Amino acid sequence: MTAPGGTTPAPGTLYVVATPIGNLDDIGARALRVLGEVALIAAEDTRHSARLLQHFGIATPLAACHEHNERDQGGRFLARLQAGEDVALISDAGTPLISDPGYHLVRQARAVGVPVVPVPGACALIAALSAAGLPSDRFIFEGFLPAKAGGRRARLEQVREESRTLIFYEAPHRILECLQDMRAVFGDERPALLARELTKTFETLKGLPLGELCAWVAADSNQQRGECVVLVAGWQAPEGEEAISAEALRVLDLLLGEMPLKRAAALAAEITGVRKNLLYQAALERQSRD
Ligand code: SAM
Repeated sequence: MTAPGGTTPAPGTLYVVATPIGNLDDIGARALRVLGEVALIAAEDTRHSARLLQHFGIATPLAACHEHNERDQGGRFLARLQAGEDVALISDAGTPLISDPGYHLVRQARAVGVPVVPVPGACALIAALSAAGLPSDRFIFEGFLPAKAGGRRARLEQVREESRTLIFYEAPHRILECLQDMRAVFGDERPALLARELTKTFETLKGLPLGELCAWVAADSNQQRGECVVLVAGWQAPEGEEAISAEALRVLDLLLGEMPLKRAAALAAEITGVRKNLLYQAALERQSRD
């Protein structure tokens, strides 16, 4: 990998390699080839990944790249890359950077001109969405919600009227309280789906309105174990009502903090072009909730 005519080697490539989220058969031939050929594998947890590599007979050396050392140790990997060696980045499961470490390394590598190549594969949110039967043309991924109830509810409130399908990751010990908060904020009737233990022995995909889904999970402690993704259908304006865009509601909220309700609705209507009556109703609803 030496630059033509020069002594500075051309940089190596940083491969961002997805690994399975449960079923080891989900790893692709290209991922195995890359993991076997690079000089070094930067892994979130080297002991965890050593077992994966051993399973596939791959002997490439591993070095830790996790959230606590990624910023400081990134230089170590960059030095190897800039010296012309290829490095693969993996996380414990699924696609690196998706609620996993890797962002700083990828960013730093790109900043210094190191080619970054994705080797795609498993990703829990995409696997769940692909089988959920909820609208998949537009969706938003919210990652993990805050662990504490106050922060969680506040975050859910922010996306209450989001019209795209919502996707969340959640830890098993919080799944019930998380679903209960979703039910409180989005309402009993909002369609949702719990995707648990994807690609594993106890894989479960249960689609129900939030009220029923909460009751189903509460009644069976097995549903409160393992890894899970929660999908919630986007907000739909009640029949006969026009939808108010999230941006119009944001403007309304800002104005409500500064002036009386009627004036805020009128001004928001002027700014956003949404009918005044509609914004007035929305303002009343917001006030009754606070
Ligand atoms: N990078 C991973 C990916 O591409 O999906 C996500 C890593 S994040 C630290 C772990 C979370 O992903 C879990 O808490 C769970 O919400 C979700 N997850 C990972 N594997 C899963 C599986 N097999 N079934 C359901 N959810 C899973």
